[in-house]
Formats: sequence, structure tokens, C-alpha cells
Amino acid sequence: MTQEIITFKDLGFSPEIQQAIDELGFEEPSPIQVQGIPPLLAGHDVIGQAQTGTGKTAAFGVPMLEYLDPDNDEVQAIVLTPTRELCIQVTQALRTYAEHLDIEIVAVFGGAPIKSQQAQLRSGAHVVVATVGRMKDLISRRSLVLTAARFVVLDEADEMLDLGFLEDVEKILRMCPSGRQTALFSATMPPPIKRLAESHMYDPVTISITPKKLTVDAIRQAYVEVPSRGKTDKLIEILKAEDPEQAILFVRTKIGASRLERDLKNRGLDVKALHGDLSQGVRDGVMIAFKGHRVKLLVATDIAARGLDIDHVTHIINYDLPNSSEIYVHRIGRTGRAGRTGRAITFITPEQRKDLLQIEKDASTTITAWESPEERIEHAPPPRRRRRSGHDPVPLDDDSDDDSEAADSKAADSKAGDSKAGDSTAADRGEADRGDDEVREAPDGIAKLFVNRGNRSGITEDDLRWALREGAVLKDDQITSVRVLDRFSFVEIDAGQAERAVEFLDGSKLKGSEIRVEVARR
Ligand code: AMP
Repeated sequence: MTQEIITFKDLGFSPEIQQAIDELGFEEPSPIQVQGIPPLLAGHDVIGQAQTGTGKTAAFGVPMLEYLDPDNDEVQAIVLTPTRELCIQVTQALRTYAEHLDIEIVAVFGGAPIKSQQAQLRSGAHVVVATVGRMKDLISRRSLVLTAARFVVLDEADEMLDLGFLEDVEKILRMCPSGRQTALFSATMPPPIKRLAESHMYDPVTISITPKKLTVDAIRQAYVEVPSRGKTDKLIEILKAEDPEQAILFVRTKIGASRLERDLKNRGLDVKALHGDLSQGVRDGVMIAFKGHRVKLLVATDIAARGLDIDHVTHIINYDLPNSSEIYVHRIGRTGRAGRTGRAITFITPEQRKDLLQIEKDASTTITAWESPEERIEHAPPPRRRRRSGHDPVPLDDDSDDDSEAADSKAADSKAGDSKAGDSTAADRGEADRGDDEVREAPDGIAKLFVNRGNRSGITEDDLRWALREGAVLKDDQITSVRVLDRFSFVEIDAGQAERAVEFLDGSKLKGSEIRVEVARR
């Protein structure tokens, strides 16, 4: 990567805010911060197309904090959020960035006693972070006035639209001074959001952070779900089980890097850390030792690993989930080079499941639950076999099977893409029942199922994965792929689970529609 590196120093924050950032261990601004902070500091309206996890809270939060006058006791800034979870999350983040400032940040959201929120507002708030309904309520009770709210943020605007809050958002915007500065963040930009921006924002600067699609196909990817407390123990277990030749362990912050290095050393492991707090000399020494295979494990932050040119790493371990799908792809691209298959293992906390799904989506990849080598053997696909009408297995004819499988699957797919049939079943698709009733079973023990619903019925890949997990009790790693087409979908799962999945899911309801599920037949 040869792009120009912009540091926090280049952004020129006040010392109090810079101190908070340093304490958080952020090494450099994320792309949304690099692009969003300068125009916001300069007083421009900004539309940011970015998802959670990109660092957008600091992108608007830091310029907001820089704008505030601690001596003015009015509400000078508001952040509107679609849900109480986001409201709480944003408040916590803003408070960490405001750690060394004399700024009061108050969260108001539904489902909690309004009286205590009123009391908090009475005792003074420079910033109010709110869900839409509760803010409206507090305004109508005159507990909140927005006449001095000159910095307004709409966070996850598309979610607010989906939840039907847009009209209320507009009402709230009209109560704020017309000379205000407005920032709007949204993962997507549907027309009503664009219209809202056009009518309520002044000459906005638009920035968009969309993860690039990169291929990570040669890399076997797994995830491990573990609460923060159990991470180190789990890591040790995984390192023992995987026994990597050499691994890079990615962490998000410099502090995190030092801590993990210390913890692993204390457990007797051969490890060195590479991060921005080390002198260049020390960093070079670490690099040379790692390249020369004198160190097995390298703990690194993303920045420190930037110039790494290493092609023999067997394992990448994302000890901290990266902030974006792009970083994920970039990190794991360091294994599996030169025709080798690498292995990438990503740690997530239960709350980060949705972030992992986002990465899978952005990188068009599948990340399965990590299994120990013993478990992997236990769950290995059953021996290749072919069944007739779901009855007696007959010996497999190797030559013919591979070819017919490929042709078969292509035929089914292209047919699916073309078909105009609405609720068609495999039988309707014509290719289904040509007298040959063999269950189509992939040679590697994968079965393909046909589902008679797709995009048109509002079904998404996540919905089907959810149905397979919750409805058919499949494990993530038993689901090989899910493809949602316009009018129907295909899922590939472990052949051994096919019958059960059909039994559980066929005739069930998904997003309000009854679904038909069957094994895709020739
Ligand atoms: P957000 O998208 O604002 O929810 O941020 C996602 C996560 O990234 C939060 O845990 C932040 O603390 C963290 N974060 C934000 N900015 C940075 C940065 N520049 N470097 C490292 N982590 C960051």
C-alpha cells in the first residue's frame, strides 16, 4: 500500500481529544474519519455512506466535541438514532472521546423512565443523544429545547426510514436553527433519504466508504465466538490445536498488542509484537526475526503490519475483529499466498455476529465456526455415494458423476436465473422430473436445496442462513453456500443434513411467505 498516510496529528484535534484518542490506542484515523472529519471541522454539512464498524461515531463525534462550548449550558448538539441500542452505544463512544473535556452528554431513549431523563436534562446537557420518539416526547413536554442545537447528526438514517421515523425526524430538524450544521450517516441511500438530505442540508459534502470486493477464496476461514474475558484462553487452545508454522495475530490497538504479547509470553509462547509505539530499530529487529523464522507468533496492529511482505504465514488470527471488511480482506490476504492454502481464524464476541455476517457479505465469502482437528474429523463429509429415490445407496461411478454434477448444477442455476415463474417448485422449472429421480448429491458430500422464494419475497441470504440455523438446527459450517435469486434460492448444505432440513423447513414461513424446500433434482 503506497497511499499517503494521514495521521491524527494532521487532523489537528485539541490536546484533550487527542489524549483521549491516544488512550484508546487508535493508531490512525479510519477512512471515514480521514474523509469526514476535515469538512465537518470546517463547518460543512456531510453525508456519510458508511456502516457501523467503520469508525463513523468518531468521524462525527470528534468534530462535534470540537465545536461545543463547555461554558454554554444550552443543548448545542443532538444525535438522532433509530434504536436504543445505537443510542446507548453512541453515547458511550462520545463520552470516551470527551473523557478530558467538561462536556455533558445525555442519552434519552424509549423504554426507560422519562422522569430521570428529564432530571438529567435539567441538570445540564451539551449534547443529547436520542431515539426519535423519546426526543419528540421530551420536546412536547418542554423538557428539551433545540433553539441552540447547531450541530445535528442523523445516525443510521436508513434504519430510521425503515422504522417509519422519517417524518418525525423532519419535524425535529425544523425545530433546530436553520443555520445549523447537519451530518447524515447511512449505510444505504434510498430515495427518501436523498430527498431528506436535499431539503434539510446545505450543500453537503458526500463521502462514501464501501468495501471493495476482493477474493479470499484460497483461504480457509473460520470464526470463534467467545466473550471478551475468555479470549486469551481460547487463543492458547487454538494455537495448540492448529500448531501453525508461523502466524500473525492481529489486534486493533497498540495497547492491545502489548497486552497480548505479555499474556502469551507469560504462558511460555514464542511471540513478538509489532506496533507503532516501538522504535524503528526495534520494529526492524522484530521483522527480521519473524522473516527469518526465529519467531513463531507475531502480534501486530494493522498499521505496523502494513509494510509486511511475508509469504510463508500459515495462519492469520484476527484476535480483534477488524473495523471494516476491507481490513479483514487485507489482513487475511497475507496467508494462502503462492498457491498455498492458508487459514484465517477470527475471534468475535456474541455481539459481533452481525459484523461477521457483514464481512461475509462484503467479501462474498463464507466463514464457518472453528472446529478442533478432532471435531473436523468427526464432521467430515460421509463417503461419496449416490442414492436412488432416496433409497439404497449404490456405488458411485466416479467418472460420470463429476461431470454430470457440474452440468446439472449449471442447468439448474441458469434455469433459475431465467425463469419467470412466481412460486415455482422444482417440478415447475421443467428440468426437474425428466423421469430420472436421482437425488442430486455433490461428490464432496454437499447437497443442493431449492427454495421457492427469493428477492421478490423479501428473502435475503441472512434470512435463509437464519432459517437453516434456527429452523433446521444446522451449524454454520454445515451450510456451504446460500444464493438468493430473484424468485427462488439455492442453498448448499452437508448432504447428511439435507433430509432433515427439508423436513423442518418445507412448508414453514419465512418473512411472512410460506416456503417450499426440496432437494434440487436433475
Ligand atoms: P463505530 O463505527 O463508530 O461504531 O466504531 C467501531 C469501532 O472502531 C469502535 O470500537 C471504535 O472504538 C473503533 N474505532 C474508531 N475509530 C478508530 C480508529 N481510528 N482506530 C481504531 N479503532 C477505531
